[in-house]
Amino acid sequence: MGDIISMECTECRERNYSTTKNKKIHRDRLELKKYCRRCRRHTTHREIK
Ligand SMILES: [Zn+2]
Repeated sequence: MGDIISMECTECRERNYSTTKNKKIHRDRLELKKYCRRCRRHTTHREIK
């Protein structure tokens, strides 16, 4: 089981995705390339609380 976190586009700050993360395994802030509908392209999405 992990905690639910939100993923935010680092360019427009839109919260596009939510996912789960096990903080005992992934201590660093998660960053993923995902498609942003507002930017209409793939951007870096960052974990927010
Ligand atoms: Zn965006």
